[in-house]
Amino acid sequence: MTISQAAGSVCTVSTLTSEKQETANSVTSQVICLPDTDCAIKPQASLSAFTSYRVGGAAELYVAPRNVEALQASMKYAKEHEIPVTILGAGSNLLVSDRGLPGLVIATRHLRYSHFDPATGQLTVAAGESIPSLAWQAADLGWEGLEWAVGIPGTVGGAVVMNAGAHHSCTADMLVSAQVLSPDGTIETLTPEQLGYAYRTSLLQGSNRIVTQATFQLRPGADPATVIAVTKEHKQHRLSTQPYNYPSCGSVFRNPKPYSAGWLIEQSGLKGFQIGGAQVAQLHANFIVNRGGAKASDIFSLIRHIQHQVQDQWSIWLEPEVKMLGDFQLAC
Ligand SMILES: Cc1cc2nc3c(=O)[nH]c(=O)nc-3n(C[C@H](O)[C@H](O)[C@H](O)COP(=O)(O)OP(=O)(O)OC[C@H]3O[C@@H](n4cnc5c(N)ncnc54)[C@H](O)[C@@H]3O)c2cc1C
Repeated sequence: MTISQAAGSVCTVSTLTSEKQETANSVTSQVICLPDTDCAIKPQASLSAFTSYRVGGAAELYVAPRNVEALQASMKYAKEHEIPVTILGAGSNLLVSDRGLPGLVIATRHLRYSHFDPATGQLTVAAGESIPSLAWQAADLGWEGLEWAVGIPGTVGGAVVMNAGAHHSCTADMLVSAQVLSPDGTIETLTPEQLGYAYRTSLLQGSNRIVTQATFQLRPGADPATVIAVTKEHKQHRLSTQPYNYPSCGSVFRNPKPYSAGWLIEQSGLKGFQIGGAQVAQLHANFIVNRGGAKASDIFSLIRHIQHQVQDQWSIWLEPEVKMLGDFQLAC
C-alpha cells in the first residue's frame, strides 16, 4: 500500500513550492486529518526549526499529537501504510540529513502536563515537557533532585531514551517508571531495570517504542532558595564551559573511558577546525557548533574528519552520541 491510499481523511490541500513539488508524491501535497482526533498529518514539514543544530531537510510527513489517543492514531496510520516512523523530542541530540526523512515524523512537543505529588515526592510528567523547565519548577518548590538537569535542553522523553545526564547524575538515577507506547498500540509501564540503562543509552534506543510519560523520585521539603542557588550554579558552570551561544547538539561523541572525547579532540589539534559552517568549538572540543549557514552535510563531514584524525593519532574510534538520521554524504 502506498501513502496515497491513506485511510485518514484529507482536510486541506496545501500549495507546495515547485522545489518541494519535485520531491513530493501525490499525497504529500495534502494534510490528512486523523479520524476521531484533532490531529493533522502535514506533508513536507521542514525539520530545521525543530532541531537544536538548526539544520536538516523536511519530514515527508509530520505530526505533533496533543494526547496519547492522537499519538496512538498516528502510530496506527504509520503501521497501516507501512511507512517508517521517527520520534522527535526537542531535537537537541539529532543531526537530520539535508535530504530530510522519509515516512512519518512524530513530534512529542505537544504532549504536556506535569504533577508534583507532595505526598510521595514524585514528579509525573508527559514526554514533551522540557527538562530545564522542570528543573526550575522543582527548584522553586524546594524539591531537590533535578538541579543537574538544568542545562540539558531536551524533553522528558528524550532524557528517558538517552539516559541524559550531567554533574555525575543521570536520568536513570531518578526514574521510578516510564510509560511506553508500542507500535501495536499497547501501553506498558516499565522500570529502570527493564529499560536496560547504561551510560547515555537504554533499550528504548532504536526500538520504535514511544515514551509517553515518566515518573521521577525527587526530594521535597528543602529551602527553595538553596535549591535555586544550586540550580543556578550548575547553569552558570555550563554557560562558562560550553558554547551555548551557537546552535549545537551538546557533546557529539561518547567519552571513550578512561579518556574524555573533548580532550582527545583538543589534543589532536582540532579546536576551531571548520568545514563549511560547522566548527569544532573553541570553548569545548566535543561540541560542533553551527557558526551560521551550516548544512547537515558539513557537520557530518566534520564528525568523520574528527573520527579519522583521532583514530590516526590515538587509535581510538570515537562513537557519536548524536543520533544521525537520514542519508548523508561527505562534503569534502
Ligand atoms: C547545548 C546542549 C547541551 C547538552 N548537554 C547535555 C548534557 O549535559 N547531558 C546529556 O545527556 N545530553 C546533553 N545534550 C544532548 C540532549 O539535550 C540530550 O540527549 C536530550 O536528552 C535529548 O532530548 P530531546 O528531547 O532533544 O531528544 P531528541 O534529540 O529529539 O531525540 C533523541 C533520541 O531520542 C528519541 N526520542 C526522543 N523523544 C522520544 C520519546 N518520547 N519516545 C521515544 N524516543 C524518543 C529520538 O528518536 C532520538 O533517537 C545537550 C544538547 C545541547 C544542544
